[in-house]
Amino acid sequence: IERELAKLRDLPAITTDGCRISLKGNVEFIEEIPSLTGHGAEGIGLYRTEMLFFNRDDLPGEEEQFAHYSAVVKEVAPLPVTIRTLDVGGDKFVPDLNLDDELNPALGLRAIRLSLRKPETFRPQLRAILRASALGKVRIFFPMISGVAEIRAAKRLLEEAKLELLAEGVPFDEHIEIGIMIEIPSAVIIADLLAQEVDFFSVGTNDLIQYSLAIDRTNEHLANLYEPLHPAVLRSLKMVVDAAHAAGIDACMCGEMAGESQYLPILLGLGFDELSMNAISIPRVKEILRRCSRGEAEQLVKKALTYHTAEEIDRFLKSEITAHY
Ligand code: PEP
Ligand code: MG
Repeated sequence: IERELAKLRDLPAITTDGCRISLKGNVEFIEEIPSLTGHGAEGIGLYRTEMLFFNRDDLPGEEEQFAHYSAVVKEVAPLPVTIRTLDVGGDKFVPDLNLDDELNPALGLRAIRLSLRKPETFRPQLRAILRASALGKVRIFFPMISGVAEIRAAKRLLEEAKLELLAEGVPFDEHIEIGIMIEIPSAVIIADLLAQEVDFFSVGTNDLIQYSLAIDRTNEHLANLYEPLHPAVLRSLKMVVDAAHAAGIDACMCGEMAGESQYLPILLGLGFDELSMNAISIPRVKEILRRCSRGEAEQLVKKALTYHTAEEIDRFLKSEITAHY
């Protein structure tokens, strides 16, 4: 198995009809990086910064964050790192930042809303990420964007941080790519408007499914209703990819769905440019990708979108997959 893995690691993630998809890793801890490259990841598609904020009495300042992000960037270089700004709240509670009297924390003051409400926390993070961008290829993206005003406000603060660094003579990548998580239904519906504001989308299916179907992602009593193949989810994914491509930007996915190999033909057929997942899922996804054709996958998606329930789509996919792969 080790030898098979190593062989696959060095093969390109390309379909039989020559379509390349970038397979990247989701990372929370710097210790995970060796496993990432060992499994053939082409960089980090989601670096979750929350871990720096958990289990401590204070908040990490700019210097601590810079030291941390630059260590990550240097370790992954020359491959790119996609750093997500703080996404706390909901299922990721930080006592110093989150409110403890919210009736619906999943719908509460969290993620980008919190960062915009607390510039004294956001600003050091933006500066630290920008400073790290001088040391390798860094992309930055924002979690839980629900509308254009939010991304514009975030970009304004990023712009301010850039001007400060410029004035201080501190190096950073002036052309750093900016993206957003697509994980709220409103963002799907206005994906065409959001696409005009950023360089890439990254779909967070963990939350997108939760908010689209109103199913708590952590509630085990509802696990059977948490359906990645719900027609509403598939239609949403299609809208997002189509809006991204119409605007000439990349459509990425970093939710768990990206690493579940049974969905790969669907994601390929929808046209995703990049999938980011747990490192250990990469070889299996790559192996299937290398046996798929994009053309056939597009036909598969067309047919899948004609079914009315997740169960029908699931049954259709399983029959196609046993027939073809
Ligand atoms: C997601 O929501 O799909 C996602 C990737 O982000 P997180 O799981 O950190 O909320
Ligand atoms: Mg999320």
